[in-house]
Amino acid sequence: MLSFKTELKLNNKQRSLMAQHAGCARFAYNWGLALTKEILNHNQANPDNKLKFPTGIDLHKRFVAEVKSANSWLYQSSKCAPQQALRDLRVAWDRAFKKIAKPPKFKKKGVKDGFYLEGSIKVEPLHIKLPRIGWVKTYEILPSTQVKNVRITRKADRWFIAFKVDATPSILPKMGKIIGVDLGIKSLAVCSNGTVFENPRAYKKLKRKLAHLQRAVSRKVKGSNNRKKAIKALARLHYRISCIRKNVIHKLTSWLTKNHSVVVIEDLNVSGMLRNHRLANAIADSSLYECRRQLEYKAKLYDTQIIIADRFYPSSQLCFNCGHRQKMPLHKRVFDCEKCKTIIDRDLNASINLASLAVSSTV
Ligand SMILES: [Zn+2]
Repeated sequence: MLSFKTELKLNNKQRSLMAQHAGCARFAYNWGLALTKEILNHNQANPDNKLKFPTGIDLHKRFVAEVKSANSWLYQSSKCAPQQALRDLRVAWDRAFKKIAKPPKFKKKGVKDGFYLEGSIKVEPLHIKLPRIGWVKTYEILPSTQVKNVRITRKADRWFIAFKVDATPSILPKMGKIIGVDLGIKSLAVCSNGTVFENPRAYKKLKRKLAHLQRAVSRKVKGSNNRKKAIKALARLHYRISCIRKNVIHKLTSWLTKNHSVVVIEDLNVSGMLRNHRLANAIADSSLYECRRQLEYKAKLYDTQIIIADRFYPSSQLCFNCGHRQKMPLHKRVFDCEKCKTIIDRDLNASINLASLAVSSTV
């Protein structure tokens, strides 16, 4: 399963519908969080008279009965938005109880706005039909696939849609399409048309297990049977991780080469980046080398031109809109242009700059 994410091309009415749905989701989440916190406090104070900790379904039932009836504006949005927000809340609590995450926090307007929709969804090349919202346009061609549910999120002023694609996207006529790809640290790759390829979640989980096993090996006595066993387990896990990673990189590189005639990537100044210790892990993580290797051989298979930007080309420091150059320390995830005030995701900005490099070099 590949997660496909792309930007939506919305009119003003649709923008406000999106904001309204995100508002409902946030409202339900915060209501549920306040309620569950109260229940936890009550249970702590009254160990002999504990209340049941609600499931996501329990929360939604109460929400409909107690809150929705008193807030008519909630009926203007799909019920999926609050329902899934409450399911997400329960998952967040489960993760907190298992100590794999911090307790959930109240959501603020404008921070990680988003919501979920399910039901009758239709996909056409440049449109997607969503329940309660209707047909919305996209900037790029969507994979032809059955979609059961979508997540919609906002980043600055732009709205993105994400859904799962199970089959390999069909090969589309390329028609001279150029794409810039920023091989990311946070995401696996961010493309100049807004498509984001995430690192698989299973992979992140296994990485934590890996660190744990590595410590286990180092604690065992050298030459002991226990150490041999631990080393074997470690090797098995290494292999599993590399399979997951290769698989997702194959999907990315196939999609890029099959659907675009020119792919622009950066020349990775890996030696320079590796000096930053924290990044070293992330780089190994996204396996940039593997990406590059696959792109190069698939480019031959699908007749795609790969352009590698000069390693000194400052793709992340230039504003894609006005060309202004400014310092962009690695921790800054958003490019906000000092000159033209454009605000854009760091990696997306870099990928657009890379794509424009192809335009200027082929003309
Ligand atoms: Zn600018």
